[in-house]
Amino acid sequence: MSRKYLIAGNWKMNKTASESGLLVQQIHSSVGSQSTVQVAVCPPFTSMGKVSEELEGSQIALGAQNVYHEASGAYTGEVSAEMLRDLYVTYVILGHSERRQYFGETSKSVNNKILSTVAGNLKPIYCIGETIEQRERNETLDVVRTQIREGLENFSDSEVENLVIAYEPVWAIGTGKTATDDMAQEVHSFIRKTLAELFGENAAETIRILYGGSMNAGNASGLLSQPDVDGGLIGGASLSQKSFCGIVQAALDLEA
Ligand code: PEP
Repeated sequence: MSRKYLIAGNWKMNKTASESGLLVQQIHSSVGSQSTVQVAVCPPFTSMGKVSEELEGSQIALGAQNVYHEASGAYTGEVSAEMLRDLYVTYVILGHSERRQYFGETSKSVNNKILSTVAGNLKPIYCIGETIEQRERNETLDVVRTQIREGLENFSDSEVENLVIAYEPVWAIGTGKTATDDMAQEVHSFIRKTLAELFGENAAETIRILYGGSMNAGNASGLLSQPDVDGGLIGGASLSQKSFCGIVQAALDLEA
């Protein structure tokens, strides 16, 4: 079963709309016309209109960093799946460790968002991963299994091809510390096994599992060459054309 690499940039709370327009033009001119590797950018909400316009006719997909589970109404500060779809959004990052840490999100509370994302014809990128304390206590596999089970409760088998998982060890995010290739593969293969228990072997083979945590153009090749690593969710290194496209190039080289 061959899964197409997905390299997604999580710009977090960086870049004004005009800065975002410039960055996406640069990324587009570098890797926007190939379709061997799926590339996505996830700018802040304020940049999404601008980036969506710039991406017209491009192979690069647009992603959001959050969504609210209700369709519309009196929910100050929130945006719905329909609003995102109207901007030609494809992916939505959900359950990111920063949202868990600073905004109180949990796997259970994110479950609603995951379900409404797929109901709204968008693809969730569901982020899971252990803290350093959990890794040191040898709890990594239990933690990710619970995050998968809780976050994906009631997820329909028929939607499975729209699901993307991002394994992001919390201790590797924005720290410059990366999981070794073997550490990443061990957890990714366990995640796929857990997905197989929930959705069946065939379905689990179709789900892309991204690695996230200080991935850069130098370490991408080793991580992406692992059999269960299907791409990357990139934070810091997605903020410049050179480093982000270097990661995309690493994926393209592995496909060549
Ligand atoms: C992230 O926040 O999803 C991430 C992987 O960040 P970084 O690449 O900066 O570690």
